[in-house]
Amino acid sequence: MKEISPDQLYQLFNRSKRNTLNVIKTAPIGICITDSNGIFEMVNPAYCEFYGYREDELIGQHFTLVVPEAYRERLSKLHDEFIVRNEHQDLRQEWEVRCKNGEARTIIAEASRIEGDDGIPHKVTYIVDITQRKRLEERLKQVNERLEYMAHHDELTGILNRRQGLTRLEEELERCKRYGSTLSIAMFDLDDFKTINDTYGHSIGDDVLQEVTEAVNQHLRSTDVQIRLGGEEFLILMPEIEAEAAYIAVDRIRQRVAEVPYSKHQLTITLSAGIASYVEASSTRMLDRADKAMYQAKQTGRNRVVIASSSM
Ligand code: GH3
Ligand code: MG
Ligand code: MG
Repeated sequence: MKEISPDQLYQLFNRSKRNTLNVIKTAPIGICITDSNGIFEMVNPAYCEFYGYREDELIGQHFTLVVPEAYRERLSKLHDEFIVRNEHQDLRQEWEVRCKNGEARTIIAEASRIEGDDGIPHKVTYIVDITQRKRLEERLKQVNERLEYMAHHDELTGILNRRQGLTRLEEELERCKRYGSTLSIAMFDLDDFKTINDTYGHSIGDDVLQEVTEAVNQHLRSTDVQIRLGGEEFLILMPEIEAEAAYIAVDRIRQRVAEVPYSKHQLTITLSAGIASYVEASSTRMLDRADKAMYQAKQTGRNRVVIASSSM
C-alpha cells in the first residue's frame, strides 16, 4: 500500500468534503437538512428554486413554512417522531406543498436520518416535483370517469342507456333467483310522438323527451331505475314490487305525465305502458311480456297501463 502523509490526507479529506458539497449543490433534486426541531439547516439551490425562496429566507425557519396550513401540525408531529424513532427508517411519501408565491405543488419526499458531529439526529429530505404528473393523472381520471359515464348513460336524458339498463335488469333477475325477491318492470312508449316531431321539429321533440324523463323520475322510488331503451321508449325497473303495486305506481306516473305541459309550446304528452313481473325466466322473456302488454295498451286506445297476462 502506498504511504500517505498526514498533509496529503488532510488535502484529500478537504477535497472530498468540497466534492460532497458540490454534489449537493448541483443535484437536480431539492435537498434540505432540518435539525431535530424541524429548523432548516441546509437547503440546496434546487430546493430554493423549487419553492421560490432565497437560501437566507429558509435557513433558521421551521420547515412547515413550505407546508399548507392544514397539514402543518401533522407534518410537524411526523418530523418529531421520525427524529426520535429508534430503528433506522427511510420515509417516502407524497405531499402537497406551497411555494413562496402561494402556488400549490405536489412532491414526493424521501427522508433519511443522519447523525451529526454532535451525535444529535438530523433529517435529510430529498424532494421530487410530481405536480405535472399529478395534474395529468387527475385529468386522466376525470376523462375516464366521463367516458365511463358516457358509456352507461343516455346522452340526451342522462338516464341509463339500453346497454347498461339491460345489465342492471340481469343483475336484478340474479337477485330474484338467489334471494327469492320480486321485481316488476314497466316498458313505456310515448303516444303519437311522431306528430310532435313532425309538427314542432326534432329539437322540440328532444326537449319533450328530456322533460318527460324528468317528470317520470320525480315519481319514482329511490330504488327504481329508469332506462332509455331507445327513441321514445323507456323501461322502469321496480325491485321488490309485485305486478299490482307496479300497476298502481305506473298508472299514477301516467296520470302525472299527462298533466304537465311540455316544452315552450305547452304540449300534452301521454304514454302507454306494459308491466311484467318476475317469473322464472330470462330477461328477454320478461321484456317480451312487457312489450306485448304495452302493445295491448296501444291497441286498446293508448294513454293506459296494461299488466302482462299469464298467456303473454
Ligand atoms: P305510437 O303512439 O304508436 O307510439 O306512435 P309514435 O308516433 O310515438 O310512434 P312511432 O314509432 O311511429 O314514432 C316514434 C317517433 O319518435 C319516431 C321518431 O321521430 C321519434 N324519435 C325517436 N327518437 C327520437 C329522439 O331522440 N328525438 C326526437 N326528437 N324524436 C325521436
Ligand atoms: Mg311512440
Ligand atoms: Mg316507439
